[in-house]
Amino acid sequence: MNPDLMNADPHERARLMIALSGTEGLSSAKPWHAEESWLAAHLESCASCRAFAENSRETIRALRGIPITASGRLVFTTQMRVRQRAAELRRQQERFWVICVCCAAVTLSTAVSTALLWRGFAWLGHQARLSTPVWESGFVVFYLTPAVLVGILLLARGTFLADHNGSFQD
Ligand SMILES: [Zn+2]
Repeated sequence: MNPDLMNADPHERARLMIALSGTEGLSSAKPWHAEESWLAAHLESCASCRAFAENSRETIRALRGIPITASGRLVFTTQMRVRQRAAELRRQQERFWVICVCCAAVTLSTAVSTALLWRGFAWLGHQARLSTPVWESGFVVFYLTPAVLVGILLLARGTFLADHNGSFQD
């Protein structure tokens, strides 16, 4: 016998034996003959372990009583759900690719337009006989203005929303 089981406290030992034997197989567990009679004696004298054995037996009986055959309707709805989920995942994947292509296109067009803008500013600076730092800073201001404006707008909108929500709470 398992030494852990031998050294355990008698109630623990009894419950382990009940759990391991599957409760209903107690009488048919032949290799356990000595332990079986020990358990029978313990159950005789110990009400709480007897209750535990009874509970285990009841639980197993109840579990065996649950019909686990899937009805045709359940199979059909499960298949439907799996198919819907697969289609959803496919759509998400397609959307992801569209976003990737858009990001690449935006990056490319930004690079091209930045290069063209830079050349334009260099040409203008040359025509107006401006020093290089002047047209360069002009380029930076022109280039960053949209981002700065968008930032300010988002900030203003965030503040507005915060105020709006705040007034709702008050
Ligand atoms: Zn006991």
